[in-house]
Order: sequence, then structure tokens, then C-alpha cells
Amino acid sequence: MKKTSVELVVVGSIGLDTVATPWERREEILGGSVSFACAGASFFTPVGMVGVVGEDFPEPYVQAYRDFGIDLQGLQRVPGRTFRWSGVYDADMNSRRTLLTELNVFAAFKPELPPAYRKAPYVFLANIAPDLQLHVLSQVESPKFVAADTMDLWINVARERLLEVIASVDLLTLNDSEARLLAGEHNLIKAARKILGWGPDYLIIKKGEHGAMLFSASGTAVVPAYPLESVLDPTGAGDTFAGGFMGALVERGTLDQAAMRRAMAYGSVVASFGVEAFSLDRLQSLTRTEIEHRLAAFRELTRLDA
Ligand code: AMP
Repeated sequence: MKKTSVELVVVGSIGLDTVATPWERREEILGGSVSFACAGASFFTPVGMVGVVGEDFPEPYVQAYRDFGIDLQGLQRVPGRTFRWSGVYDADMNSRRTLLTELNVFAAFKPELPPAYRKAPYVFLANIAPDLQLHVLSQVESPKFVAADTMDLWINVARERLLEVIASVDLLTLNDSEARLLAGEHNLIKAARKILGWGPDYLIIKKGEHGAMLFSASGTAVVPAYPLESVLDPTGAGDTFAGGFMGALVERGTLDQAAMRRAMAYGSVVASFGVEAFSLDRLQSLTRTEIEHRLAAFRELTRLDA
């Protein structure tokens, strides 16, 4: 990693998550789309975080961000309570129910980019209200590549603003159910074609343990999820994938099909580490060497000798 200025800016949610799996329950652990995405990107490039926390946000969590090397000039701490989210996973660890969403300081959040972030060439608008994504977009000066993520909530309650986001970005990431909901198409290929028609050059559809697909006018690429024996907590896997993807893209410096495919592989590998533990716990001890080793194993797994 040679670069030192903030090459990638990520805006999104910061949450204190309470997560229950069939085996374990954890309370008020560090979560939120921007936390996972910045952590995932930090292995590849300097990354700046734009988000908001309340007075109750634990100092060790801020230290965790610093330990990843995340630039925190865009982190606002304001009076009030931090955003909270709680979810429970079914036995298959794929489907999840949201039990609670408490907006708290998020309700009045207005993301303001520090001057050092306005010229960042890469921007990732992680999951957050489309209005806030647009507000961030209006502050960046001619970025080279902008990606956005979203969720079913915004597709349902803020569709028009979300379509504005989609028309303004280079890449949209969605999971399979969100792609179906957004496009009103069950078939993912048809859904992808429809969504690409709304503006972005690229669309990534994430399919959880079944990997991800990249769609563009140049064709389709698929990447599997790295097969794991033990998945402890899938929360934030999509954000970690997107962070790893964007980080790898910045590191490569080009936007051709080879760079996109390489970024897909890194996104998948980094996300596979993330789900091995709750919160950012596994990512905190992760090294680039471990990423490279798993990438090599991943290459071997996906090799077709046909
Ligand atoms: P994912 O597993 O990719 O859906 O991401 C889960 C993360 O999203 C959790 O850490 C939550 O804190 C965060 N989250 C949950 N609901 C929302 C929301 N309405 N807006 C933004 N972030 C959210």
C-alpha cells in the first residue's frame, strides 16, 4: 500500500448491533455499513469514513477504527444516542429478521465531507438513506468511480430518490432479493438488464453463501463465496465485500474488466474472513498475507480445467 492520502471515501451507517444466531447472542457490538466497508477496504488503500455516532459510542470502537488505519476526519460525534439495530438469524444463517431499528443520532444526520475528502477519486455510498447518499455525492469533485449500496427499506420508502442515486453512480450493489424487489423481476439476469438500463455501468448482485455476480455491457462475471466450515455471524458480509472490492479497485488503479474481476475475488475473500466471527473481530486480526493465501486457495477452487 503506497498511497497515503484518502483515495476512497465511504459514507454509511455506524450501529451498535445486537445480533442473535441459533448458537450465540451478542449485545451492542460494533456494526453499521460504513464500519464493515471501511474495514474491508483498509487492507488495500487509505480510506476515509463519513458517519455519525452519539455520546454513548464506546471509545474502544473508535480505537478499532484507528487500528484499521481508517481516516476519521469525517466521523461526527454529536449529542444523543448512537444508531441501534438488532437482528436474529434463522437456523440456516441466511435468512434474518430485523427486531429493532433505532435511528437516534442518525435521524438528523447530515454528512459533511471534510475538504480533504472532496477530491477523493473513489467513493462508496454504503447503505444509508438515498437523500444522504445524494448529499455526499453533491460534495465530491469529479470522482473517478462511485459505487452505491442500498437495502429493501429504501427501495420501499424512498424509491424515487434511490433511482436518482442509481442514475448517478458507476456501480450499484444489491443482494438478490433487493434486485428482485427493485426491478420487479424474479429472474436475476432480467432484473440486472433492467437496472443497468437505469444508468450504472456496473451492477453487482450478492447472493450470500452463493457468491456474487457482476453485470455490465461487457458481459457477466461470477465469483463464488469461499466455502467455510464455520460461519459465526454473516452481518455486514455484503458491506465487507463491497469495501474489499472498492479497496482492490483503488489499489489496481484501472477500471477495466480485469480490474473488476480481481476486485470481485478480493471482495469475496475479505468477506469470507468477516463472517468467521461477530462484528469486526476477525477482520481486526486479519493480515494481507492471510488474504493472499486464501486468494490462492480460492483460485485453485474456481479453476476450470474443462
Ligand atoms: P447487512 O448484513 O449487509 O445487511 O448489514 C448489516 C448492518 O447494517 C448492521 O451492522 C446494521 O447496523 C446496519 N443497518 C441495519 N439497518 C440499517 C438501516 N436502516 N440503515 C443503515 N444501516 C442499517
